Amino acid sequence: MAYDPRALVLERKGVLSLREFPLEEKLGPHDVRVAIHTVGICGSDVHYYTHGAIGPFVVRAPMILGHEAAGTVIEVGGAVKSLRVGDRVCMEPGIPNPMSRAYREGRYNLDPDLVFWATPPVHGVLRSTVIHPEAFTFRLPDQVSFAAGAMVEPLAVGVHAVTRAAVAPGNVALVIGAGPIGLLNALAALAAGCAHVIVSDIDDDKLALAATLGSITPVNPLKSDLLEAVKAATDGWGVDVVYECSGNERAAASVFAPLCPGGVVVFVGIPLAPIAYDVSAAQVKEARVEHVFRYAHVFPKCVAMLASGSIDVAPLITRVFPFGESVEAFEAAASAPRGQVKMQIEL
Ligand SMILES: [Zn+2]
Repeated sequence: MAYDPRALVLERKGVLSLREFPLEEKLGPHDVRVAIHTVGICGSDVHYYTHGAIGPFVVRAPMILGHEAAGTVIEVGGAVKSLRVGDRVCMEPGIPNPMSRAYREGRYNLDPDLVFWATPPVHGVLRSTVIHPEAFTFRLPDQVSFAAGAMVEPLAVGVHAVTRAAVAPGNVALVIGAGPIGLLNALAALAAGCAHVIVSDIDDDKLALAATLGSITPVNPLKSDLLEAVKAATDGWGVDVVYECSGNERAAASVFAPLCPGGVVVFVGIPLAPIAYDVSAAQVKEARVEHVFRYAHVFPKCVAMLASGSIDVAPLITRVFPFGESVEAFEAAASAPRGQVKMQIEL
């Protein structure tokens, strides 16, 4: 079978091209080769396009974008046991060093040497095929579409966040930010046992979508009082968990006001600059504060929840582009259109 030889290449800041980009890749005994079917566009991909860097990661040479992917296994290495040619799969985009201390301690997402797709200088997967370790490739059951499979990566962030929060049945949560990570975090919180979630954002179209996803109250803090909404939902006590998914400086400064005494704040959104928060406001509530970076050990759980129906990500996929229109897709994503949550590209 002939595959499209092109890849979506970020040549440098602000310049994308869909062009041939030969890569030397060798299938090892524990690897599989996957034909890519669907790739989600992530905020980080867009940020590399518009800014050329995220923190210490700077684009210094042409790099293929994309890290939220699902596809079909087309070749397996000699030692691969769990996957076969024809299996539909999604891939965890970060590959840790198994000799690293972080890996041995079970926190492989914190391995400083982690190799992660579309993080300079590592190429991403907006291309026809990729070689990936069997250990980080997960079979999709028949009822999980490629589109949903490509949502496992951002969903993993939400599932990791609710795992770190240690949600208890009946908790009430506040999610700040109704982008893909915020809404997937809300769905993960509900699946983990939250009775109710309040979602705040200033985009009314995203809030309208949020309201259709389950036991969710949408609040636009520019139009109504977020603290009043929290009090109304919690008998004046405050929410058990605040998920800060916006990365916004002002939002981060006030995360303890809606929190209940003894509650937990989870910082999920990545701020672009250092931000401050009110320690004394946290102290009087003995707030626990967690920070999450990507995820570890959650891809199979995400696939299981998509398969069982306890999480449905389909409503969040708001626009799909063909591979040939990848550059246009990124231009659309970079313009941050109202109401758009997750855009995907199909190969
Ligand atoms: Zn992503």
